[in-house]
Amino acid sequence: MTKISDLYNRTFKTLRISLINTCNLACTYCVSEEEGRIKKESKINIQKSKIKNHLELGQIIKQLHSILNLETIRLTGGEPTLYKDIVPFIEALQPMGVPIKLTTNGYLLKNLLEKLPDNALDSINISLDALDEDVFFQISKRRNLYKILEAIDLALAKNIHIKLNCVVIKGMNDQQILPLLEYAGKRNITIRFLELMRMGHYHNANFENDFFSETDILNLIKQKYSIYKLERQKSATANHWLTDSGYKFGIIANETEPFCHDCNRLRLDSYGNIYGCLSANSPISVSETTDLTEALTQALKQKQPVKFTGSALSMLEIGG
Ligand code: SAM
Repeated sequence: MTKISDLYNRTFKTLRISLINTCNLACTYCVSEEEGRIKKESKINIQKSKIKNHLELGQIIKQLHSILNLETIRLTGGEPTLYKDIVPFIEALQPMGVPIKLTTNGYLLKNLLEKLPDNALDSINISLDALDEDVFFQISKRRNLYKILEAIDLALAKNIHIKLNCVVIKGMNDQQILPLLEYAGKRNITIRFLELMRMGHYHNANFENDFFSETDILNLIKQKYSIYKLERQKSATANHWLTDSGYKFGIIANETEPFCHDCNRLRLDSYGNIYGCLSANSPISVSETTDLTEALTQALKQKQPVKFTGSALSMLEIGG
């Protein structure tokens, strides 16, 4: 078997699948004010799918696993809970024995959790950018934040491991950092604060104005808590800290503390294209008949050596 690895000894162990490239929220970091909910043409030439259904997608994933011996499969999007076949798709992947994780905005999660067997998902990352309804609306253009909070309660009641993700935007939700930290900490949930990334409409414009760095986040938390840094896990996106009150939080500092050097992620979009890096603007189309070893070798070359350089694609398209 050909070993897929590069000069930096990186390979692919985590597969992130963007099941669908639409979302029921219109978060400001994914979609600009002008774009709103209207689906725009992609900025790159993405080859539309030869993949007919979730069974075919499942076959490609099994083939990728046979080459890569995957350690994690993460379902994302767009918003993966909008994918109509998500339940049978998860059920079809389960026999592979690879932990299946989900990244969701949580809006429709309660419904999904009621349909899925309790052990179907290994863990769930839920995006939660604010606890204040007005700030949540400003970011997501949606009301009914309670739906996400109810889904969090249900996941906890079912003993499903969850983490929260909050993208911090200066002047918009930076004042939500402490309330979110405390909300998560009191429930024994780890929350990760994400530095804004230069993607989509942030690729060339507005970025500096809206950027709130890891240092800014730490300084804000240190105004109220003493904090201790924890050791970084290999290939992790986040660095973690513990507050003196026992709250664990992470920061995904893609801009100021990049983690490309040991990145092990491979992306597969809803059209059946793979990408070796978030900043790769050249999708590699795959199907059941593709020479996947060759395609993966090509994808690995897309990884940046040191730092994410930005992308004209929004996370909606490539899968966050
Ligand atoms: N809809 C799901 C959700 O909201 O979690 C999954 C897809 S979403 C694109 C995945 C993650 O990407 C979210 O945590 C979101 O906050 C993050 N994201 C999207 N655009 C971003 C950007 N420009 N900078 C930083 N994080 C971003």
